[in-house]
Amino acid sequence: MIYLYLALFLLVLAILFFRQSSAQRKEAGLPGGRIIYSDTRGWGKVEKPLFYTALGLTGKPDYLVQQNGKIIPVEVKSGRAPEAPYDSHIYQLAAYCLLVEKTYKVRPPYGIIHYENRDFAIDYTRELEESLIDLLADMKHDEYKKDVPRSHEQAGRCAKCGFKRVCDQSLA
Ligand code: SF4
Repeated sequence: MIYLYLALFLLVLAILFFRQSSAQRKEAGLPGGRIIYSDTRGWGKVEKPLFYTALGLTGKPDYLVQQNGKIIPVEVKSGRAPEAPYDSHIYQLAAYCLLVEKTYKVRPPYGIIHYENRDFAIDYTRELEESLIDLLADMKHDEYKKDVPRSHEQAGRCAKCGFKRVCDQSLA
């Protein structure tokens, strides 16, 4: 019986945790992502980076998909999909959506994050765009600071980071 109570307790905890993280995500203007099936045959490789000088933004989505006059950016991530896409992946995709809109003058309704085993569609909402622009402004501001505190607790992220040898906050 004790195991049943323990299992129920853990389940309630997991639901509370999930609800809290999704509430935080909504507060930041980040959509959660929808699992979709996408046909990779329609994906076109992107050869050159896209630029938007007004925000000092540049980047190259892995693929673009043309669909009924819309252009959808696709970002490919190695590894299996997390429960929900990481915020950093959402922001990266949002930046590609912005670059596509500024370059081709057509706003993508969403972008796709492609993991090894699953694809997520991330709606490119006005809230996400605003959140991205705020983040870019914060990054610009931090660029000139001497000390910028680490924004996460993920050792795996530091392990793959190119700055880990010189970073005094590395977790790896
Ligand atoms: S090593 Fe430093 S810069 Fe790189 S992810 Fe970790 S905390 Fe951030």
